[in-house]
Amino acid sequence: MELKTHISVKNLSIWYGEHQALNNVTIDIPDKKITAIIGPSGCGKTTLLKSFNRLIDLQDGVKVSGQVLVDGEDIYHPKVEVTHLRKKMGLLSQRPQVLPMSIYENVAYGLRIHGIKDKKKLDEVIQHYLKESSLWEEVKNRLHSSASKLSIGQQQRLCLARGLAVEPEVILGDEPTSALDPLSAERIEQRLLELKNQYTIVLVTHILRQAKRLADYIIFLYLGNLIEHGPAEEILKNPKYLKTKSYLEGQFIEEPKIDKELNLKGTVCPDNFVKAKLALEDLKLGQILKIIVDYEPAVSEVPKAMEYEGHKILEVKRLNFTDWEIIIQKRNNTYLI
Ligand code: ADP
Ligand code: MG
Repeated sequence: MELKTHISVKNLSIWYGEHQALNNVTIDIPDKKITAIIGPSGCGKTTLLKSFNRLIDLQDGVKVSGQVLVDGEDIYHPKVEVTHLRKKMGLLSQRPQVLPMSIYENVAYGLRIHGIKDKKKLDEVIQHYLKESSLWEEVKNRLHSSASKLSIGQQQRLCLARGLAVEPEVILGDEPTSALDPLSAERIEQRLLELKNQYTIVLVTHILRQAKRLADYIIFLYLGNLIEHGPAEEILKNPKYLKTKSYLEGQFIEEPKIDKELNLKGTVCPDNFVKAKLALEDLKLGQILKIIVDYEPAVSEVPKAMEYEGHKILEVKRLNFTDWEIIIQKRNNTYLI
């Protein structure tokens, strides 16, 4: 599947004070698809999402290194206008945050940003966006009553309408259905599925079933590291790495116990896979070898060669700007020629 990229994340690390919440994440988010960011609580999902509209900047003591490119433009460049960027990115948070005004005014707020003042035009467009978020039928007779009187599920759909009215390119959702009852959640899900033809949607969710229902593309984070990403079908049916598999099966995620470690920095192909192979020969079946490489082609070539030999790649993790870690479990007795 050849996908057009909308948001490109390059070597992104984020710290809250001393605490590193994201470690060297590099990933492309496809255009006009639903991408789900999954992983256990505290693994950095919200942090990654908030880096896309620079909401992360609002917190004290945050340090960001690396790049986020939206439509090819580095959004952390000092010349970037943050308000312009945020207009491109509609945000649905965990709990709906309606403005303390009427239903009508909540949506009009976004439209006035775009300079629509004409009453008739406003009425028309407000109706359009309330329909877009499946709320119109429920509120058409009480547009001027207070938004806070709506149910939580309706409030979330109103937030969606308000967000869409700003004409974003991207919809960011941070567990947008987690506070909702099942029926309201389903309505939001349904809308997102329909909206993906027009918008790039990035959805944080810790509900696997939701990721299964909605996602075209999946990013799996664990403890601030990007463990695996790819088309949803591949990740869900055939995860490459052990941690992804454990998470999907609802099992405890363990760090693999390393039996031997090998630093192959400065070694290029094919020397690095010959060395990895020799190291595996010294291990017993089932034991685990960790190698560190700094030669980019090795990151895909070494695992390929080791899998060809019948071994299992448990994890490939980027450590920093130059180094990767490849964790291999010996599954086969191989001998050089
Ligand atoms: P998730 O959304 O996956 O639950 P978060 O992105 O919210 O994870 O958090 C990632 C890590 O960063 C966690 O360890 C969390 O405790 C920490 N963290 C998040 N926000 C802050 C903050 N404002 N100050 C300090 N630490 C934070
Ligand atoms: Mg979160």
